[in-house]
Amino acid sequence: MPSAPKRLRVAICGAGIGGLTLAVALSQYPDIEVEVFEGATTLSEVGAGIGIFPRPWKIIRMLGLERDLLMACEMKPTEGPVSAFNIRKSDQRAGFIFTTLITKGMMMQFHRADFQKILLAHLPKSCRVNCSKRLRTYTNRPSSPTELVFEDGTRAVCDVLIGADGLKSAVRRTLLTERANWMQAQGRWQEAADIGACIEPSWSGTIAYRSLIPAERLRATAPGHPVLTTPTMYLGKHGYLIAYPISHGKLINFVAFKCRHDLEHTEFAGAWVGPGDKSQFADLFAHWEPEAQALLHCVEKPLRWAVHTVRPLRSFVCGPTALMGDAAHAMTPHQGSGAGQAIEDAYILATVLGHPSTTRETVPRALRIFDEIRRPVAAGVAEGSRVNGQYFSLAVEGVDFDRYSGKQLWDKLQGMHAEVVKNWEWTWTTSVDGMMKTALRMLEAPI
Ligand SMILES: Cc1cc2nc3c(=O)[nH]c(=O)nc-3n(C[C@H](O)[C@H](O)[C@H](O)COP(=O)(O)OP(=O)(O)OC[C@H]3O[C@@H](n4cnc5c(N)ncnc54)[C@H](O)[C@@H]3O)c2cc1C
Repeated sequence: MPSAPKRLRVAICGAGIGGLTLAVALSQYPDIEVEVFEGATTLSEVGAGIGIFPRPWKIIRMLGLERDLLMACEMKPTEGPVSAFNIRKSDQRAGFIFTTLITKGMMMQFHRADFQKILLAHLPKSCRVNCSKRLRTYTNRPSSPTELVFEDGTRAVCDVLIGADGLKSAVRRTLLTERANWMQAQGRWQEAADIGACIEPSWSGTIAYRSLIPAERLRATAPGHPVLTTPTMYLGKHGYLIAYPISHGKLINFVAFKCRHDLEHTEFAGAWVGPGDKSQFADLFAHWEPEAQALLHCVEKPLRWAVHTVRPLRSFVCGPTALMGDAAHAMTPHQGSGAGQAIEDAYILATVLGHPSTTRETVPRALRIFDEIRRPVAAGVAEGSRVNGQYFSLAVEGVDFDRYSGKQLWDKLQGMHAEVVKNWEWTWTTSVDGMMKTALRMLEAPI
């Protein structure tokens, strides 16, 4: 028997954490057809860890993903205060813990591949995930379906296109180019130029070196190293290290950040992501404390990642097309929140698209509600993350930490930590409930 016609056909471009979470969230609505188009030949997340804070974790729970994700880690989510990270000052021979980041509920830490596998396992059979389908461009015509054009020359149609295609998003390129052209045609040259400037990502001045260290290797090098059990951040001038156990303690997720904030928005020469070499960052950390050295000693074949961001957009949507996740607001990783923000986007997008008032005709309105709710939140998180990156590399305006010692140094570090917490606590003190209520109120308001 032929199945009932679907209310909406949604195409999701990109099968990263954002795109797959959206596909899972939309699968609650049987009258929405979902098809995912992924440019890569296979689905394989980069071999690295990912942390999810309490605010997006609540969404994970609501989407029914919690039980399976918990089976992929040692951690149990808690509601009360927990120590998330020990934070050390490490750019000296004798480093010391100067604070512990206390969060309400813990940051859940995973191997990205495990996370992706679980998202895929939760997709219904009706949701097709097509690999080797790299979007080149798309066209929106009034009263016609959106047409997607792939690099291999094939095409597809949909009622709603969601660009979850990451930092170098092809959907963002088409959406912003069209809007800039339109502005130009209206003689609004400055606006056209401002929009055009957001098409290409911008270098943050920071390079991340990521590696997964086998816990056995660290144990052999430094028996009882605190990172085997305790997430830790090692701060110093011009960079920092972050390390925590994942995969039932078998691996240590390690990232070294080399920060040149003065180079923000300059062009990064060379490939943005590629194999790295310890020699590219060892110099910066050469005089750091032994605990940091032990980690650096265990790093093999790091992946080098020039951290790029997307400049704040004036809108994430245009007609029946929307951007989400890194495609919309790629941010620095200094609040461990880029994927969390993609998860929040997915949840609100599914809410507005799934709402019974949303039809093919009213999709643009639903997407504008998504934009109005999510864009300011993501922009605030991106800015907070940028500032955190400065604090973690001890770049605090008016404070030269080298000039202080003893109680004075301690007080300066405490002052900085207080700012970090003020900046970061949104992710464990607030929830997505408010956004959700606003979305429903707006959807149910008379047009
Ligand atoms: C060092 C580092 C550490 C981080 N740590 C954390 C953390 O602890 N917690 C956290 O929340 N976030 C963290 N982030 C940020 C997080 O990784 C990203 O924000 C998140 O992965 C974005 O997900 P996404 O689905 O939007 O994009 P992506 O993960 O980039 O997925 C995009 C997908 O689209 C595909 N694609 C691209 N172009 C096309 C095309 N033209 N057609 C079809 N498919 C296409 C890609 O192959 C990819 O599969 C970190 C980032 C970095 C760099």
